[in-house]
Amino acid sequence: MAEKIYVTYNEVHKLCQASAPRILAAFKPNLIIAIGGGGYVPARILRSFLKQPGSPNIPIQAIGLSLYETLGTDAQIEAPGTKVTRTQWLDLGSLEMANLIGKNVLIVDEVDDTRTTLEYAVRELEKDVASAAKELSRTGEPTQFSVFVLHNKDKGKKGHLPTEMTSHDRYLAAVTVGDVWINYPWESTDIDEHDRLAALQASK
Ligand code: 5GP
Repeated sequence: MAEKIYVTYNEVHKLCQASAPRILAAFKPNLIIAIGGGGYVPARILRSFLKQPGSPNIPIQAIGLSLYETLGTDAQIEAPGTKVTRTQWLDLGSLEMANLIGKNVLIVDEVDDTRTTLEYAVRELEKDVASAAKELSRTGEPTQFSVFVLHNKDKGKKGHLPTEMTSHDRYLAAVTVGDVWINYPWESTDIDEHDRLAALQASK
């Protein structure tokens, strides 16, 4: 069984605080897209540290993605593997998608495990923004995406991100960990016990 680690709200807050200057230096986001549910809390905390005096708060929009395993019993129909479905997305025909055009968009999630979710989010958002820009004759306004996660697991990835994203500081992880299982505080139904286990782990 994978080693488990416990991360507290306090640690999440400080990871966001420590990462904000790096995000601002590399990429000045003016819109955040939080991948639910794990991206919501980090996105909200990050916003406080990304706020620039005299500039408005960075808006946060939410998307929801869910992974499911495909069995691939009929290879001609579907190969076995992991697929992603949208449980919540930006409204394609409305201002929500048009609002991304020409922006520096920071996609936030809690963990990059196999990278399947992030690959899907980046690819589909890029595609949908490009068609919205075409539709609205706004192709001259470049939209740039970047990614922030609290934890990147150092392991072989199934998903891939554009090289120009990873090589230009547009992919940032607050910390890189091994292939461990991370328990986040918002998943806990007993936060005192969660914090006790985190403190125990820190004292070892
Ligand atoms: P992916 O494999 O696409 O990078 O990650 C898919 C999702 O699996 C993540 O968004 C997260 O919800 C969940 N996940 C993967 N690894 C962990 C982990 O170590 N801890 C928790 N709590 N969730 C994880």
